[in-house]
Amino acid sequence: MDTDVLIVGAGPTGMTLANELLVAGVSAVLVDKLARRSELSKAGGVQSRTQEAFDQRGLLEPLLATGDYPAGTAHFAGITLTLTRGRHRLPWRSIPQVAIEGFLEAHLAARGSRVRRDHELTDLAQDADGVTATFAGGARIRCRYLVAADGGHSTVRSLLRAAFPGRPGTATTVAADVRLGGDELPTHTWSPDGHWVHVFPLGTDPQGRPLRRLAMGGPGRSLPRDVPVTADEIRDGLRGAFGSRVELLELRYARRITNAARQVAQYRHGRVFLAGDAAHVHLPIGAQGMNTGIQDALNLGWKLGAAVHGWAPEGLLDTYHAERHPVGAGVLRNVQAQSLLMDSEGTRAPDVTAARELFAGMTHLRDVQYHLDDMLSGMGLRYAMPGAEDEPLVGLPAPDPGGGPVRWHELLRSGRGVLLDPDDGFAKVADLWSDRVDRVCRAEGTRPMLVRPDGYVCWAGSPDGPEAALGHWFGAPK
Ligand SMILES: Cc1cc2nc3c(=O)[nH]c(=O)nc-3n(C[C@H](O)[C@H](O)[C@H](O)COP(=O)(O)OP(=O)(O)OC[C@H]3O[C@@H](n4cnc5c(N)ncnc54)[C@H](O)[C@@H]3O)c2cc1C
Repeated sequence: MDTDVLIVGAGPTGMTLANELLVAGVSAVLVDKLARRSELSKAGGVQSRTQEAFDQRGLLEPLLATGDYPAGTAHFAGITLTLTRGRHRLPWRSIPQVAIEGFLEAHLAARGSRVRRDHELTDLAQDADGVTATFAGGARIRCRYLVAADGGHSTVRSLLRAAFPGRPGTATTVAADVRLGGDELPTHTWSPDGHWVHVFPLGTDPQGRPLRRLAMGGPGRSLPRDVPVTADEIRDGLRGAFGSRVELLELRYARRITNAARQVAQYRHGRVFLAGDAAHVHLPIGAQGMNTGIQDALNLGWKLGAAVHGWAPEGLLDTYHAERHPVGAGVLRNVQAQSLLMDSEGTRAPDVTAARELFAGMTHLRDVQYHLDDMLSGMGLRYAMPGAEDEPLVGLPAPDPGGGPVRWHELLRSGRGVLLDPDDGFAKVADLWSDRVDRVCRAEGTRPMLVRPDGYVCWAGSPDGPEAALGHWFGAPK
């Protein structure tokens, strides 16, 4: 074997996975077909759970130190969830994808894990022991596992002939990076004539001037994907929404995005796994694509680590599909609902307007906003796990008591499991897994809990102790 894991694609998913494997002490090679990292801003919004994931590995503080990334408020279908402000320790934040990729690539390089660029995977073959990947020019890499993080047009997915069901794009909307002059604008504007414009902060240009991400659509605005977006088209959209209150100073980049929604039927194909946009594509509404890919990587990383180190219990690698496929399916569904409520296809159908009005009225209710926020932020994500039916904490992200004695984001930095043992009662049993799980006693006043390396509770205080859960998630005792 040349390496334990080969990761194809150095976008946010691939780089997060490379870091997870580094933390797990597993050899990995990360390749990308591009000779240089893309400078496109792409994603702009980072959800609470993604920030928690970075914080768990000590990456959030240094990432935030690389620029000015304002906190904001998430939205659903352009309806700002104002009642959720202050709900999470780490609020929704505007961090351009390009900044995340630049930070992760530098972080990996500083630890000796350099992206191998100019490596375009063109073929792969797997057998009982491993996978052989072939690159343009004929170079080969042999690995035990291969992860496809090669984006929405995934070559690996095509080579596997993996079923990718869903619906094709039927309409396009415009996304653009711009500099604007004039009044401060509302983030989301939806006119009764069906035109909508979203304006998000997007950091600054090299001269320190504020940039904005603009998304717009509506009747007559859905043009074929290959028709270039013009400055006049953007001006027209801005005028329709804001009149003369705003001026387009610079159009830096623009593209048309389709509403295609597809998800690969199987996330695992033998020794090959699909993650991020390679596994799911959808309209980027509500800051979810990159965030879901990063969470895929967080879920898969420690499981691959366990398999390579030889302690993975039977079926552990299959839980990647079992846990992440339903999450991806849920994202596709909520994006389709948002797309309908926003009338992103510009139909101006009266029933769509009526549904939107009704829905907007319901979002005045705090519980409705909390429900939507749970879904978008990732903080309400609950994996189906043994014991979840009896114990409300099992399957959820480890609760952060906010300044209390247990600071998960610090305890999980090693990438190992954590057994919280406030009454100091599990020393003997924990010793059997001490090469994979840290036992922490300094936590008076909290409940006993077992947390996986990805930060999810997999046992919490049942009278029969953590032994069964330790065996289920961390394999046979040493
Ligand atoms: C305008 C816009 C706005 C968005 N806004 C948001 C947002 O606010 N929040 C959010 O969460 N998401 C957002 N998204 C979605 C987000 O950009 C994607 O979900 C994200 O890029 C997926 O990351 P990835 O690492 O899975 O794939 P990618 O970022 O696509 O990376 C794939 C990598 O694989 C490489 N590659 C491809 N084929 C090969 C090959 N054969 N061999 C080697 N390398 C290969 C590519 O060069 C690329 O570097 C937005 C997208 C767009 C376009």
